[in-house]
Amino acid sequence: MQQRLERLRAALSPMDALLIASPSSRFYLSGFKGTAGTLFITRDEAIYIADGRYIEAVSQQVRHMTVQLGGLPQTGKLAELCAQHGVRRLGFEDREVTVATYHQYQQALPGVELLPVDDLIVRMRMYKDAREIALIQQAQDISDRAFLEVLDFVRAGRSERDCAKVLEEALFRHGAEALSFPTISVGGARSSLPHGRPSDYVLRDGDFLTMDFGAVYGGYVSDMTRTFAIGRISDEMAHVYETVLRAQEAAIAAAKPGALCSDIDRVARDVITEAGYGEYFSHSLGHSIGIDVHEEPRFSPTCQEVLQPGVCITVEPGIYLPGRFGVRIEDDILITQDGCRNFTAGPKALCALRR
Ligand code: ZN
Ligand code: ZN
Repeated sequence: MQQRLERLRAALSPMDALLIASPSSRFYLSGFKGTAGTLFITRDEAIYIADGRYIEAVSQQVRHMTVQLGGLPQTGKLAELCAQHGVRRLGFEDREVTVATYHQYQQALPGVELLPVDDLIVRMRMYKDAREIALIQQAQDISDRAFLEVLDFVRAGRSERDCAKVLEEALFRHGAEALSFPTISVGGARSSLPHGRPSDYVLRDGDFLTMDFGAVYGGYVSDMTRTFAIGRISDEMAHVYETVLRAQEAAIAAAKPGALCSDIDRVARDVITEAGYGEYFSHSLGHSIGIDVHEEPRFSPTCQEVLQPGVCITVEPGIYLPGRFGVRIEDDILITQDGCRNFTAGPKALCALRR
C-alpha cells in the first residue's frame, strides 16, 4: 500500500493534493473497504477522512495514513485541510465524481482549482503487483473449484436457475466473499443472449448452456465463462464451439508485452470472421479485472494500449446466433515478461463439457 502511495505521489505535480472518494481506488490505496470516506493525499501526507461509523475500524486497519474524523458530507473537512496545507490545485476523479458532488466541491473550496486526474489512478491500477495477482489467482481458484461441481450437476432436466444456484452455493462454500456480478446462466435458444439472467428454462437434449460467473476474494474478482453441450448437439453447434475455442486460443497465444490491445481483439475476430460468423461476435474480446470487474485496458477494436507485464485481462470471444444458440468461452490471463499465464484451469475442450 505504501508503495502505491509513493507511486501516486511521484505523479502528483502539478497538483498540490489529490482527492480519492471512489470505493475501488480508496480500497486500492488504503486497503480498507467501506461505503464512505475520502482520501486527501499531499506530497508528504496521506489523510483518511472517515465518518463516525468507520473511524475506529479505519484507525485500527489503515496504519500508513493519518486518520481524521469528518462528518458527512466531508466537504467541510476538505476545506479545512486545503487551507491548512495551502492547496491551490486539487486533483479529483473525474470519471467517478457526480455532477452534484463536483458542485459541492466547487462551493466548499472557493479559490481551489479542481483538476481531473482519473487517468492517473486508472493507469496505476492497470498493472497489478504481486499481492494483487495472488488475490486474483485465489479468486479464480474458487471459481474453478465451483465450476468442477457444477460440471457434475449440469444435465438435461435441470433449469438455468438450478445450475446457477448450485454454482453460487459452491462459490461461497469455497471461500467467495461475494459474487463478482450476478451469475449468467442461459440455455437453449436463450444462450444467444450474452448477458441473460437465469430463468426457469429446463435444459433439453441438444442444448447449449452458457454460464458466466466469478468470485470476489480479498477484494479482487475473477470472471470465467464455460459453455456446456447437453446430450447430442448438432454438427453446426460443434463447429461454432470449435471456432470460438480456436479464436480464444489464438488470442491467448498472441498476448504478450508489446502487443497492442486492439491487435489481440483482431486475432480472435479474424478467426471468427474467416469462419463466417464475424457479425455474430457482438462484443469486445476482453476487459481487465482487479478490484472492479471492468478495468482498463480492454481487448477491444479501439483500445490502443500496449500490453505490459502485470495486466490481468479476460479473453472471451463469443458467437451468438439470435433465437438459436450461442457460445462464449472466457479465461483470465496475466501478461508476464515473455507472454502470458492463464489464471483459469477449468477444462474447455468440447468433449469435457458434454453432459
Ligand atoms: Zn464473464
Ligand atoms: Zn468478462
